Amino acid sequence: VERVRFAPSPTGALHVGGARTALYNWLHAKANNGKVLLRVEDTDQARSTRESENAVLRDLRWLGIDFDEGPDAMGGEAGPYRQSERGDIYVELANRLLESGHAYPCFCTEEELDMKRKQAEAEGRPPQYDGTWRDADPAEVKRRMDAGETYTVRFKIPDNTTIAIDDIVRGEVEWDANATVGDFILLRSTGVPVYNFCVAVDDALMGITTVIRAEEHLTNSLRQILILNALGFPVPKYAHCSLILGSDRSKLSKRHGATSCDQFRLDGYLPNAMVNYLALLGWNDGTTKELYFTPEEVVESFDLNRVGPSPTMFDSDKLIWINGQHLRALPVEELAPMARDHLVDQELLDPSVESDSELSMFIAGMFQGSMSLVNDVATEFQGALGFPVEECISTGEASELLEDDGGFKVIAESILSAYDAGEFPNGSSDDHAAEWKAWVKALGKETKRKGKKLFHPIRLALTGKMSGPDVGQVVKLLHITEGVAPNRVSLA
Ligand code: GLU
Repeated sequence: VERVRFAPSPTGALHVGGARTALYNWLHAKANNGKVLLRVEDTDQARSTRESENAVLRDLRWLGIDFDEGPDAMGGEAGPYRQSERGDIYVELANRLLESGHAYPCFCTEEELDMKRKQAEAEGRPPQYDGTWRDADPAEVKRRMDAGETYTVRFKIPDNTTIAIDDIVRGEVEWDANATVGDFILLRSTGVPVYNFCVAVDDALMGITTVIRAEEHLTNSLRQILILNALGFPVPKYAHCSLILGSDRSKLSKRHGATSCDQFRLDGYLPNAMVNYLALLGWNDGTTKELYFTPEEVVESFDLNRVGPSPTMFDSDKLIWINGQHLRALPVEELAPMARDHLVDQELLDPSVESDSELSMFIAGMFQGSMSLVNDVATEFQGALGFPVEECISTGEASELLEDDGGFKVIAESILSAYDAGEFPNGSSDDHAAEWKAWVKALGKETKRKGKKLFHPIRLALTGKMSGPDVGQVVKLLHITEGVAPNRVSLA
């Protein structure tokens, strides 16, 4: 059974790249009836925080990515799932490697190593450890140990070693181990294990069958496989997913705009749309299909073998487009609370308006067709609420928007006098839509206008715009938002 893991370093927010890695692990597990684990790689004590871990978890939860095993309440038999809690395991396995001769103690001081590096540089050699203690006299080693000298544990790279993988995404990758790395450190003199040692050990002890991660970790595989081989642990399969690029083809970063999941959430993106878009960042199902409305729908088609090796560009326009498709497909009862919350946050709507109220539903239904992001509701709502007829008439500017400005005046004045006479269908009726229709028809008769010549001036007089949502709905909105929408402008 497949076992995969997402292994974030909790040193900051969850970004697009991390989210895609998490998603591909999750999709691969689900598509293969496997298990997906969360492992927290918090060995970098200075940069790791519990707040970051919590924030990453919150964002994963928002995306709908859940785990079969992981820290605390997530459960599982292969824990602890935080590297900071696995110190004893790393020390024990480092000792095992010392005993089996796959590793050795190195007593070089920082200063000595620094000198060696400088010397190597001066001679044009790669700055690799030169193996000073690799074949040291055991008596000398024992003497230093007995004297309590501190030492690092170094991995002894076997002679003439080539390591090759058949990466699921990248294909054959091969390293001449001896030419690529020197005898590297497993445990620092403080007993703190190095990153690659932890990853190799954990992947093995957690029974990981496939490592799915970012391309930037490809070169780490060499060290990790050397360690696995020395410990006699199985080597997992690897899938290194390509870089995500910004619009200028450089690695995606903050200067390309929002990159953290949190920001996308705040900007009004829908989690299922994010999942849809992230899945397509390097994968397709072999057809031109681009819309998957639920994560489960992606699972049905997902195949790691179809993840491509070339870098993919993060296309914000496409993400917005996908989000719009998702948003417009939502049942109005699902959109209503989100739209309501955003309007309340923006102080455009009174908090007393309930998520499932008729007003929230009306707002969502009215604007859904013209929204791409949840947050678009604010502009739409404000645009529909903000125009008094009188102002529209008095500025005269509005009439210039019409080819036939005479019509505008006539219509606007009819609206006002109907309003004064209490005959304007102001949205208070339960059957407003029908009343509105009848009133517009009568106005057309009275003014001998029809089609655009009738509808355009009405729209302009009541909204100040030449396009927008159904005018009858705008009138209804003005009525039902009375007292709960601070920016609402009264009709006259
Ligand atoms: N902790 C690493 C990161 O956050 C992931 C390492 C791995 O997947 O092997 O980038």
